[in-house]
Amino acid sequence: MQPITIMESDVDFMHELSMAKNIIDKAQKVLKEHNAQKALAIYVKIGELSSVEKESLEFCYGVLIKGMQEFKECQLIIEQVKWVVRCNECESIYNPNEHLLRCPQCQSQDYILVSGNELDFVGMEVE
Ligand SMILES: [Zn+2]
Repeated sequence: MQPITIMESDVDFMHELSMAKNIIDKAQKVLKEHNAQKALAIYVKIGELSSVEKESLEFCYGVLIKGMQEFKECQLIIEQVKWVVRCNECESIYNPNEHLLRCPQCQSQDYILVSGNELDFVGMEVE
């Protein structure tokens, strides 16, 4: 793997860079397990709360796979998952970001997480 120079202004990328690396490590494992030569697509999910940015993740992935033949044609397909919670008082489902962190029905701030903290390797296509 080629060395990557990280500028101080890119410190925000650290999160994405390590995630991209994890994704590629995992993908290489899957390739090996299936005796496959090429990866065609990798599917991941990132939640709104994970503080991973789609564009940054795509960028880091692109940098890391440079020169890796098995990933030459491989697309990283990212699904972004919204922050969604369920109110413990009235069971409304809502995105706290869109409702000032309060339940739009009963104003309660007592909720449980439904989705939004995903950082998942969902699967991949290989050949
Ligand atoms: Zn409520």
